[in-house]
Amino acid sequence: MNLMLHDTLTGDKRPFVPIDPGRVTMYVCGPTVYNYAHIGNFRPVVVFDLLFRVLRHIYGADAVVYAANVTDVDDKINAKAAQEGVPISVITGRYLDAYHADSAALGALRPTFEPRATETIDAIVAMIGRLVGNNAAYAAEGHVLFDTQAYADYGGLSGRSMDDMIAGARVDVAPYKRHPADFVLWKPSKPGEPEWPSPWGPGRPGWHIECSAMIEQTLGLPIDIHGGGIDLVFPHHENERAQGLCADHATSYANYWLHNGFLTFGEEKMSKSLGNVVLAHDLVKKVPGEVVRWALLSGHYRQPLDWTGDLLAQAQRSLDRLYGALRRAADLETGGGEPTAAFLEALGDDLNTPRAFAELFALAKTLETSTDAAERAAAKSALLAAGALMGFLQVDPDAWFEGGADEALKAKVEGLLKTRFEARKAKDWATADEIRDELNALNVVVMDGPDGATWRLKETT
Ligand code: AMP
Ligand code: ZN
Repeated sequence: MNLMLHDTLTGDKRPFVPIDPGRVTMYVCGPTVYNYAHIGNFRPVVVFDLLFRVLRHIYGADAVVYAANVTDVDDKINAKAAQEGVPISVITGRYLDAYHADSAALGALRPTFEPRATETIDAIVAMIGRLVGNNAAYAAEGHVLFDTQAYADYGGLSGRSMDDMIAGARVDVAPYKRHPADFVLWKPSKPGEPEWPSPWGPGRPGWHIECSAMIEQTLGLPIDIHGGGIDLVFPHHENERAQGLCADHATSYANYWLHNGFLTFGEEKMSKSLGNVVLAHDLVKKVPGEVVRWALLSGHYRQPLDWTGDLLAQAQRSLDRLYGALRRAADLETGGGEPTAAFLEALGDDLNTPRAFAELFALAKTLETSTDAAERAAAKSALLAAGALMGFLQVDPDAWFEGGADEALKAKVEGLLKTRFEARKAKDWATADEIRDELNALNVVVMDGPDGATWRLKETT
């Protein structure tokens, strides 16, 4: 399988060539755990999980090393801990657990490493020391700042001029800064906030240096792929790159920079500060995680994706169609299959998920319409293999259509359906209607088919 990736740094799409095919490295900026993450935060989780799966398919599961960090010290975390009167670890533990549960519900594999800022302080302090030693950073009034004037290619990733960067970052003009674009590597903590010792006084790291040090510690520099949302290109990734290159006098920090587009809601970026958020944590209680995953992958990852009720309904219908085809072909024996070349080509083209989905539908159609048993069996096994690669279609099709119901509800519905069947057989329409109303009240949709009735829960969004 060939893989082409679009690189933000060069602005082109080119074949992916890893530094070492026996150890392919990918890093993605993860969450700041002070609250439940919204569904926009899960777009990079799902997009880069898909890329992780594709890389594992090509290079082998053991040859891909994926690190996604957890920012577990930050102003917002400190504020929340102070508000609740608990240590920051209580806050970060609570929201990291929820983040893991919600990521798993969306079918995301756990990254190989999940480094935490608070566990990387030694490496951070060491990296800052190297930057100071290389004259790329300077200490002033308890702070250490990166010297943007010392690095000629500052702005190279985001393609911005120094004036744009100063305006765009709304940088603080502080008396201890030599240049307004200089950014913090180390800063003193406010009273009561967590702090660590350092050669420049007690304090805590800036956000950007955390990622550079975590990458160096878990993966080693340079890495093959660096990912994140498009909002991170500047200043976060620009600064990460500047730090990483200047600390080691290196020429490459990451060979491919990938950025997912925004998830929008009502035409605005979904964000906590705008207050227009849908929490994945709430959503996965109402809708199968697989439906949410499908919705998140239904547009190309670099394009904006507007989050609407229709998007979810469409995702549910798409998966129902594929699971329906698999259910009707339940008796068809298959061996282990491989995804088709057309499917792999679609994913290999910078993760073209809309085209990959179209290939899944084409396989389902062959499965439903072909009169050749061998062709149908091949289509079924290719559909299952392609689904597995993308993190879909691994549930038993019968269970899919009954998904979301707890055991007590299942038993009740099965009982009602049995009574309804008897009533209809006896032409007792009044009882049959009554039961239909009761099922309706339970949010159950009944589908009468040639092999008897099946049922599922109505969507509740
Ligand atoms: P944050 O917790 O805000 O640092 O975000 C975590 C990740 O989610 C980063 O990679 C962000 O770029 C990404 N992200 C945040 N909001 C959105 C959004 N509305 N659409 C897509 N990605 C987002
Ligand atoms: Zn980062």
